Amino acid sequence: MVELSDIVGQDQALQRLVAAMGSQRPPHAWIFAGPAGVGRRTTAWALAKWLLCAQPAAAGAGRPGDIAGQSGIAGRSGDTAKRPAACGRCPSCRAFDSGTHGDFHAVTKELARYSEDPEVRKRIMQNLGIEVVREFIIAPARRTSTLGRGRVFVIQEAELMSEQAQNALLKTLEEPPPGVRLILLCRTEQELLPTTRSRCALVRFAPLEPAFVEQKLVAASIEPAEAAYWARQSAGSLGESLRLAQAGLYAIKREMLERLAALPQSADAELGDWFSAKAEELSKAAVGADEQVSALLATRRAGGAMLALLAGIFRDVLAAAAGKPGALINADQAQAVARLAGRFDLDTAAQIVSQLGRYEQLLWRNVNAKVLWDNVLITCDTAAPLEV
Ligand SMILES: [Zn+2]
Repeated sequence: MVELSDIVGQDQALQRLVAAMGSQRPPHAWIFAGPAGVGRRTTAWALAKWLLCAQPAAAGAGRPGDIAGQSGIAGRSGDTAKRPAACGRCPSCRAFDSGTHGDFHAVTKELARYSEDPEVRKRIMQNLGIEVVREFIIAPARRTSTLGRGRVFVIQEAELMSEQAQNALLKTLEEPPPGVRLILLCRTEQELLPTTRSRCALVRFAPLEPAFVEQKLVAASIEPAEAAYWARQSAGSLGESLRLAQAGLYAIKREMLERLAALPQSADAELGDWFSAKAEELSKAAVGADEQVSALLATRRAGGAMLALLAGIFRDVLAAAAGKPGALINADQAQAVARLAGRFDLDTAAQIVSQLGRYEQLLWRNVNAKVLWDNVLITCDTAAPLEV
């Protein structure tokens, strides 16, 4: 289990967090904003563990409300040892580490499937609805905590909360029951309602440096060429890089680029079949690996991952067409990029990159995979706009 002192590459965010926690009136509602996979979730978990710990470490640290800790938390930038830490031994820490803490609530849109209401269970979980917020945040927040240290709620993908859901949550954010703390994770705070934002303290998590991501991936036994690719492709997201690398996406990316570069045009029936088959393989593997993942969610994620690889390839085509091949994402296949780029002028390449971004929204609709990928490839050939 990661502690606050273990979080690296986010010194500014942690400095802000630790300083606010050590202030006279520490916030009880937080927004952690930033791209996925840069440490927001890990930080939220570590903060929750510390908040719930019965004996948080005292050295240079304490917790608001503890007599010894009234003024002691302020850590220096980069000085991770000064960050507060959970003891790791008390009943609360042990329960937290085993994932069974009754006062820790990880809230996701997928919780809808555990709702008491059969209608809510049946719904497709595109957003985080009011029913989930009522049943899994507002109601348990009112209950007495199990271990007497309050309750911590971490709301993942908080930007997916509907307007209704956010309005229902306002009162809890404004005046939570004693000991209740809420952490909202989102990509950017602008995606939340102003009323939600104004009730929370904001901590921004920046994308990680590509060199840092690369180094961490190599440390996780990923081959250097692949590590370098993910560090550039994932825009500073370590978590995302690891997830995609472990799912075998690198081999798919290599084959995708080779196949695209080998053909005189992208809109090829066999290539469409290949995209459909790979997306289905990925989706099936995801469902097999985690029973929490529904088939629909897995299909959407697999499609999104394939689209992202393709977008990375065409960003390189655009860079090459613009005469800037120095900063390729797919530097490991520079020759294939050059071959593919030879087919497009600058305008068309820019159009393709822009059009590819629009396919993401289609993944939630019930579009036949073959139709989807055939259309994507027509776009990759002629920059024809989305027509499904
Ligand atoms: Zn503890």
